[in-house]
Amino acid sequence: MDKKYCAYLCSGCGIGDALDMEALAEVVTGEMSMECKTSEYLCGAEGRALIEKDIADNGVNTVVIGACSPRVMQNEFNFGEDKITVRANLREQVVWSEVKPAEGAEPHAEAAAFLMESAGDYMRMACTRAKKTALPEPFKLETMSKKILVMGGGIAGMTAAKEAAAAGYEVTLVEKEAALGGKAAEWRKSFPTRSPWTDLEDSPVAALAAAVQQDARITVKTGTEVARIAGAPGAFRVSMKATGTETEWDAPAKVTTEDADKISKGEMENPNKGLKNYMSVDEAAELHGAVVLATGWLPADVSEYAHLGYGAIKNVVTNVEFEKMAKDGKVPAKVAFIQSPGGKEHDQDFPYCNSVTSMVALKQAQYVCQDNEDGNAFILYQHMRTPGSQELYYKSAQQTDGIFMTKASVTKVEENGGKLRVIAEDTLLGDNLALDVDMVVLAAGMVPVTKEEYSINLAYRQGPAFSDLSLFDGYADSHFICFPYETRRTGVYTCGGVRKAETIEETIDDATGAALKAIQCLESTDRGVSVHPRSGDATYPEFFMQRCTQCKRCTEECPFGALDDDEKGTPLPNNTRCRRCGTCMGACPERIIGFKDYNIDLIGSMIKSVEVPEDDDDRLRILIFVCENDAYPALDMAGMRRNGINHMIRFIPVRCLGSMNMAWIRDALSAGMDGAMLLGCTYGDDYQCHFVKGSEIANKRMENIGDTLSTLGLESERCAAVQVAITDYDKIPQIVNDFVDEIVEMGPNPFKGF
Ligand code: SF4
Ligand code: SF4
Repeated sequence: MDKKYCAYLCSGCGIGDALDMEALAEVVTGEMSMECKTSEYLCGAEGRALIEKDIADNGVNTVVIGACSPRVMQNEFNFGEDKITVRANLREQVVWSEVKPAEGAEPHAEAAAFLMESAGDYMRMACTRAKKTALPEPFKLETMSKKILVMGGGIAGMTAAKEAAAAGYEVTLVEKEAALGGKAAEWRKSFPTRSPWTDLEDSPVAALAAAVQQDARITVKTGTEVARIAGAPGAFRVSMKATGTETEWDAPAKVTTEDADKISKGEMENPNKGLKNYMSVDEAAELHGAVVLATGWLPADVSEYAHLGYGAIKNVVTNVEFEKMAKDGKVPAKVAFIQSPGGKEHDQDFPYCNSVTSMVALKQAQYVCQDNEDGNAFILYQHMRTPGSQELYYKSAQQTDGIFMTKASVTKVEENGGKLRVIAEDTLLGDNLALDVDMVVLAAGMVPVTKEEYSINLAYRQGPAFSDLSLFDGYADSHFICFPYETRRTGVYTCGGVRKAETIEETIDDATGAALKAIQCLESTDRGVSVHPRSGDATYPEFFMQRCTQCKRCTEECPFGALDDDEKGTPLPNNTRCRRCGTCMGACPERIIGFKDYNIDLIGSMIKSVEVPEDDDDRLRILIFVCENDAYPALDMAGMRRNGINHMIRFIPVRCLGSMNMAWIRDALSAGMDGAMLLGCTYGDDYQCHFVKGSEIANKRMENIGDTLSTLGLESERCAAVQVAITDYDKIPQIVNDFVDEIVEMGPNPFKGF
């Protein structure tokens, strides 16, 4: 596209009071050779009309806006997909972030000049960005399927299939067992879902299965397993096989979560590397656009608690086994429900225990009293969780004759003349207990199948499951808080027990959410744009392959398995798997990966456009690369609260810290900048990174920057990486200002002026 530029400055929201707008316009027209106009109210009708007129009459197609944060007024400054718009954040990060003098003190004599220098740099960077940005062309698949594959025919899978079909999408529902229904088909009753929240209800499984089977848009395949899923969103090639039969491909080896950690740290070879035929194309495979993984959960293993006797003493059973017994006939008259292992792990729950296992104990205690006139159910717990209106069910159980509940630590279960004796201490009532019962039921928790089983069989270079990456206890999330249902494989969405422990009612909501996410993925893929978190982004990573050294860093570091490779190690991008995080771009030592509006040259040129004054302790320049997802909005909020930010700082937003190429820092410091900081999301077990591991990768890369600085003769302390959360808006100013103080203490970069 032949670009026609114009920059627009807004003097509203206090910007014009703090800045010399004429002088700022001269920076744009003079240094950046770009036409520049000023409006008192750029986001209002008049301001927008000014820009629209230039677009219509003068052919302006590349617009630079110097006004508020790019996070606000997005509709007002949207001039269509065929225009390039770049925003300079003069309001939140310059004018509203001015450091005010302490009460009673005079303002710094050069305060106004500092603000102008800052505003000038942000305009220089924005104009440079506009010049370096190319209009993206969305990536469209030649053949695209909008059919959804649902794996698992339980409540979650059947609901997802039904909801997707109701929205007009074709669905294939695959169930490995001979009939639909899943685990819930074996439940005698399900929890109350309506007022007065005291009455158990019939399971909705049968009615749901009938509805699914009658739906013309749903193809049900029972007794079938997914053998392999190759391809990418919009064009997944799904091969199926009869349950339990062999495939024509090498079966992938099982990779445990522990193995996955080792593989990602390079301590272990991926056993599925180079799997025979596994990555090959199966021409007969069915084309699907998205996958809903609803393969459920498995009861946790409780046999390790020897003092409770599971596996050794007859009539010590799990809650799942007891439920089946209750469905098939009468349950015994005296039953102890043990909710926590007790013993040494005194106040712990069983692994994967949750509110559902608490509710199950209440329900099963009710069976005991319903089936036996003199029935007695003893519930021994450490924690009883009955969220929301289920509290009313708990209260009704408390008042039921025959049901006894107490907090207690069980020390032993033993046989006692044909019966069982349960010994417990530390009870709520203060007494130790010895209960003689017919049966003991242990509250086995709900383990997602991804933890134990090979559940998805992806023909991806990074391995067939999600487990090439660290998992939260086997849950395949990509960001539990911000992107529920999303896994670390684009186009694959989870719901039901495989995502979290939940009741039937919760599962129905959950499955509806996953179906909607799958639809959203299909429609985004069809338009050639990204799914969450960069929804609607039409760019994608482009590779200048002639200079690729086949080092495989990009294929290994991509958090979403978007890149396969050939035998030599040349990356084979799958653009519809890509979430546009730029981690591959940050990883590539050859700097040959980039996006139309975000690449090594573009950010490098923005850095170069920042003015670096000669030796002056009041005019050092510190670059802070800011993650757009959490840190940048937190900075905006700091501006809204008028928390002052040191005038020597220049912020550069990045898609994710994973996209940080260390060349930017090296070049900045070589050019005389005095320091550089990365501000990104928390990583580790409680990670908040929207691209799973970008901030962690960036921190690893930063560990090497010290060596680079030493070769330049600079102190390693001139670079830092800090983890922050979106809620840290009151802390971030202190963090960055303290960093500036440390740099001031070190003195200016000796390269200044060279
Ligand atoms: S941009 Fe991110 S998701 Fe896409 S290929 Fe690169 S690393 Fe993978
Ligand atoms: S990181 Fe760069 S050089 Fe290495 S394989 Fe990927 S594209 Fe090629």
